[in-house]
Amino acid sequence: MAQTSEVNRQIVLAERPKGQPDHDTLKMQATDVPVPGEGEMLVRTVYLSLDPYMRGRMNDAKSYAEPVSIGEVMTAQVVGQVVTSNLEGYEVGDFVLSGSGWQDYAVSDGSMVMNLGKNPENPSWALGILGMPGYTAYAGLLKIGEPKPGETVVVAAAAGPVGATVGQIAKLKGCKVVGIAGGADKCAHVVENLGFDACIDHRSDDLAKELREACPNGIDVYFENVGGKVLYAVLPLLNPFARVPVCGVVAWYNLPGLPEGRDMGPSIMGTVLRMKVKMQGFIIYDSFPASLYKEFSRDMNAWLQDGSVKYKEHVVEGLENAPAAFNQLLVGGNFGKMVVKVSQ
Ligand code: NDP
Repeated sequence: MAQTSEVNRQIVLAERPKGQPDHDTLKMQATDVPVPGEGEMLVRTVYLSLDPYMRGRMNDAKSYAEPVSIGEVMTAQVVGQVVTSNLEGYEVGDFVLSGSGWQDYAVSDGSMVMNLGKNPENPSWALGILGMPGYTAYAGLLKIGEPKPGETVVVAAAAGPVGATVGQIAKLKGCKVVGIAGGADKCAHVVENLGFDACIDHRSDDLAKELREACPNGIDVYFENVGGKVLYAVLPLLNPFARVPVCGVVAWYNLPGLPEGRDMGPSIMGTVLRMKVKMQGFIIYDSFPASLYKEFSRDMNAWLQDGSVKYKEHVVEGLENAPAAFNQLLVGGNFGKMVVKVSQ
């Protein structure tokens, strides 16, 4: 059972990984619990979010965000509870969404913090369906994918928080939805519980053929979550004027360099050109007008309440288990949105 710590346990980046992170990548250290000053509060982590983007932060490479420095606490959104407050608008016991990172406690001056109140119904959902991954699915699909009734939408990592939400929203918009996921259990969940029309196991020997058979009218929207061989199976099926919101390429996050084998550049760019594909990358923090978040919040709360969107979490107990859980996330060891329960 996860317990509140007497010290502040922190997980820091010890070494930049080459490929898959290993036991030298992250280290746990113990420090004193910090003391908040005037205009600050102390937040105790209850749920820590694990997300694929964290792999990118381990690299010293140009990106949309600064890398985590060696020795620095790994970055993360957490849902925590206020333990001490010298900050107006925050009381002891309030649940907050903040960027405290992989640690038990953090002091905050309230910047980039959302107060979730004393009794949120499902506090951890602010890290998933009602937070960053849910909003990513909503904004990327509706604003870049622009799905229309009757069109075919394909999304991989379909049992994860982004993919599962993309598919369910596309169904609400009247589309035919084909998911791609790793393994029979995930595929069954995607079809039976989430209402996708079909789901294909990307480990199948003939992914391209199975996808072709599942999409007899081609693909109008491919929501790109993974890249790799899924992308190569999708390419020949894209219809003229297809839209491809490029959200993530998790299949390649652990690559130490360029992939081996045939250069797929000509195939990708040739398809984009011939099929007049709109392919647009986005980063959820700064790619859409701030007003869209309100629309998302309104719609998603309504869909969850009336049961038209369902949500699954994968909860890991204990901060000390976060590094191993993170490695599992990158290779499909999660079944639903991965969160770590750090304290009660
Ligand atoms: P998930 O919880 O779905 O975890 C990632 C999943 O990717 C794994 O569970 C696994 O699922 C799948 N996967 C891993 N390797 C492969 C592979 N080689 N081929 C096919 N699938 C693979 O993640 P999220 O829902 O949080 O994120 C989905 C994507 O969205 C990621 O790429 C992430 O980086 C991106 N993202 C981008 C944002 C943005 O602002 N652009 C914001 C948030 C997320 P399975 O078992 O089904 O293979």
